[in-house]
Amino acid sequence: MSSPISKRLDPLEEVPKKTKKKDASQKESKEQRQLRHRKENMQRYTRKAAVKKKVFTPKHVITVDTSKAKYNQDIVRLCVKELGWKEYPYGKKDGSCDIYWHCNGFNDTDVISGRVNKFPGMDELSKKIELTRAMETMQFLFPDDYTFYPRTWLLPQQLTEFAAEVNLKRRRHPKLKTTYIVKPDGGSQGDGIYLIRDPNDYMLTHKSHVVQEYIDRPFLLEKYKFDLRIYVMLLSLEPLEIYISKEGMARFCTVPYEAPKVKNLHEAYMHLTNYSLNKHSTTYVHTENQHDGSKRTLSSVWSKLDSMGHDSDQIWKEIELVALKTVFALAPELRVEYKAEIPEEKSGPGCFQILGLDILLTEDLQPILLEVNSSPSLRTDYEKEVAPGVVEYIHSPVDLDIKKPVIMETLLLVAPKKKLQMKQRRSNRSSKKKQVDSLCVPVQDSISQSPPVTPLSCRYLQRDYTGYEEEDEEDHHSDPSSGTESDSPTPSHSYPGVHSPDEKVLYQLYPGRYSGVYDDLRVLERTADIFLKCLGVRSSLRMGPTGFRMFTRKCRLTTNGLSNAAVDIMFIELHRKWEFLNPDRTTGLCFQGFLEAVFTIAKRKFRGLSRLDGVAALIDYCEANLNFGRHARPTYLPKVMMAEAEDRLQQMSISKPSKYTRLTQSDHFIEFIRQRNKKKAEQEDNLKSDG
Ligand code: ADP
Repeated sequence: MSSPISKRLDPLEEVPKKTKKKDASQKESKEQRQLRHRKENMQRYTRKAAVKKKVFTPKHVITVDTSKAKYNQDIVRLCVKELGWKEYPYGKKDGSCDIYWHCNGFNDTDVISGRVNKFPGMDELSKKIELTRAMETMQFLFPDDYTFYPRTWLLPQQLTEFAAEVNLKRRRHPKLKTTYIVKPDGGSQGDGIYLIRDPNDYMLTHKSHVVQEYIDRPFLLEKYKFDLRIYVMLLSLEPLEIYISKEGMARFCTVPYEAPKVKNLHEAYMHLTNYSLNKHSTTYVHTENQHDGSKRTLSSVWSKLDSMGHDSDQIWKEIELVALKTVFALAPELRVEYKAEIPEEKSGPGCFQILGLDILLTEDLQPILLEVNSSPSLRTDYEKEVAPGVVEYIHSPVDLDIKKPVIMETLLLVAPKKKLQMKQRRSNRSSKKKQVDSLCVPVQDSISQSPPVTPLSCRYLQRDYTGYEEEDEEDHHSDPSSGTESDSPTPSHSYPGVHSPDEKVLYQLYPGRYSGVYDDLRVLERTADIFLKCLGVRSSLRMGPTGFRMFTRKCRLTTNGLSNAAVDIMFIELHRKWEFLNPDRTTGLCFQGFLEAVFTIAKRKFRGLSRLDGVAALIDYCEANLNFGRHARPTYLPKVMMAEAEDRLQQMSISKPSKYTRLTQSDHFIEFIRQRNKKKAEQEDNLKSDG
């Protein structure tokens, strides 16, 4: 036996397992046994010492890197501590944490494993111009589904169109006074926003802006305008998993609302609901109570609306749909960014992201989407000037009450399932007394500035999240890596109202309750793969003329009706248009421009079909030609078309179609539908003439 001394100090060395049977020759002498016991004890001791000194993190401990969490560090730290996990406020030396909570965008991180709280490209996509483009694309294809986003123009690029539309409206309705709101792209906290009535009032600067129809009849509470901050959590892109928080925030203006007129257009405290603006108003009410004050919980607003005889459940359903459709609108381009950043063959981190949706209720309680925030504020304190020039940070129980459960439950959803299970097993093994003790975790000292704890926020501080997984594993855990439906927490179907302290706030919106209902709206996600496959040079995410030609050639689009010359002209026209619209002026066709090309080609190739059916058919056709058909992926062909196709196949006495036959046969189906529509039209004509 070699000398154990050299190995004694290695805390990580595995202890050799005892074998049950040993033959006589292998029997240890007494001395050897003692030596072995000593070595084992030493290893156990050094391991424990290492854990104590925090040199070595035990395998089951979930680790969270908050080194770049900036102003969110306090709240994330509080949650991590309460969960009994380990925080790395300065990052881990070997850089391998389970979760990374960053305030920077995805591209500023150098994470290669674990889960990071940012999706590549999300910051850009949620800016006003990009959001408008994504919404306009969806409005083009699904006009009835995307009425919740106000009509918007990009300035200065679309100033002429904007002016023309305003003039047309004036001519049609001379008495109608419409107001518009100008917002700088990438602006936040109400900075640089102003209201106008005339396109000539737009102030041309070097910045890009959007100008939007102003919702001049918002729903008012106690005469004040307010908007709602809804937290939506995107857990994974493929498969798409979306969560929404039942609890959110209502932010109130500080001057009673009046319909816009020339005299009051400049009144920011009357028209803009931003907290960062209104907190400077002398009439801003900071309160620990969630039912009054200038910042309230969503549940308190619902209670109020219910007491006024409105149906808050119905409003919440509408808000759920707005959230769902907004993520659907962002998803195609997000997929492009994600796949370009982390291709399947390359290892990379998983992503998740909390989004803050700003929603305004119209006079008749219809939700309108104003903005998507990719980094919603998660602060739970506010600044107060206690003496001239002296600012103190005051703890805000209302913020804590709203934001902490969202973060806590998000962390639990993205934590590695294996570790959560290990932790559960360990806590099951611990004594009953310990479990009872752990129900009151002393978390107070974890907040850097120890805010006063009010009874309201106490409910979360005393909740034992370490025992969370003990209650009902299936209910609370989902495997972020697998993302299968069975692993996902059962969606809660309870609607707003005031939720009880032990109730979860995050629940699955998709697939969950809306699984399969609005899948038609996801048709454009499939174009992401087509775009990437034909892109050529990947680094820029812009398609050049060669890439575009490759797209039409590989997808066999240049046969019947679309010549190579027509393809080139189409590219030049679209490129010119989108280059003009893009403030960054990067050359090449951006993804939204590519989508416009898809719409144009679909219109040419499938003349008999509706806009949506044509686009779906074209995508099918491209996928079949690019050999994507073998993917075990859901197909989003319009349901009518699917039913027709299956009927047709049965008529053709082909056995029940598989996913793949459907794809490769798509031309037959389209021809069939065209014939059928023609026949129908003829029959209708005959009926009319008979009549
Ligand atoms: P920012 O990113 O600067 O906060 P927002 O788009 O959120 O910009 O707009 C700021 C505020 O202006 C909103 O909170 C809302 O009160 C008001 N607002 C924005 N757009 C509209 C609109 N179309 N109609 C009515 N009010 C609006």
